[in-house]
Amino acid sequence: MMQRRGLMYVLSSPSGAGKTTITRELLNKNEDVVVSVSATTRQRRAGEVHGKDYFFVTTEQFRTMVENGEMLEHAKVFDHYYGTPREPVESALQSGKDVLFDIDWQGTQQLTEIARDDLVTVFILPPSCAELEKRLRNRAKDTLESEEQIKGRMSKAADEMSHYSEYDYVIINTDITLAIKKAQLILEGERLKRRRIQGLSEFVRNLKNGL
Ligand code: 5GP
Repeated sequence: MMQRRGLMYVLSSPSGAGKTTITRELLNKNEDVVVSVSATTRQRRAGEVHGKDYFFVTTEQFRTMVENGEMLEHAKVFDHYYGTPREPVESALQSGKDVLFDIDWQGTQQLTEIARDDLVTVFILPPSCAELEKRLRNRAKDTLESEEQIKGRMSKAADEMSHYSEYDYVIINTDITLAIKKAQLILEGERLKRRRIQGLSEFVRNLKNGL
């Protein structure tokens, strides 16, 4: 059997564009895909689980992780620190798994610098500003976010969206089922890329030699 190099699949979008749902569905559909659980200094929201949604750490703990080189990338988003712990990603990739990242454009730029060949980047856009605001307001009912926090997210959305052109793919999430399908197609297409398949030249040599 030919081995395939695991790929790093980045999904970025402004909050509320559907990234969390798409990530969850990709995980459900693909048993050889794992998600990178980030560390953050922000408060845990209602329903979030430490170690599953995030590793919730203090600023001091976060700083120590950065200083010890334990972060693959890190950034300040909405006044809090977020970062990708290095070790779980490296061991998943080594075992041939694909890794999903829900990170912002700053983190994506850093991963592009260190792992361009393994990286597939997808930017998810909402169909309109009105729809984005509606989704954020709906979500705020569950997460108990304040009006001020929603406004903050709307203004950050414009900044985040201006980075769409740094990504390999863009999905406009008008219909979530279709958006999930597109994210899955991108994953499957990228897995077929020649450079990700190991042992191909030996395989073809054997084919040519009638083996
Ligand atoms: P939230 O607080 O809504 O969970 O996430 C806020 C933003 O931080 C989202 O855009 C999310 O993609 C980004 N984010 C989450 N984890 C990381 C990370 O490890 N690194 C970076 N650079 N951004 C992250």
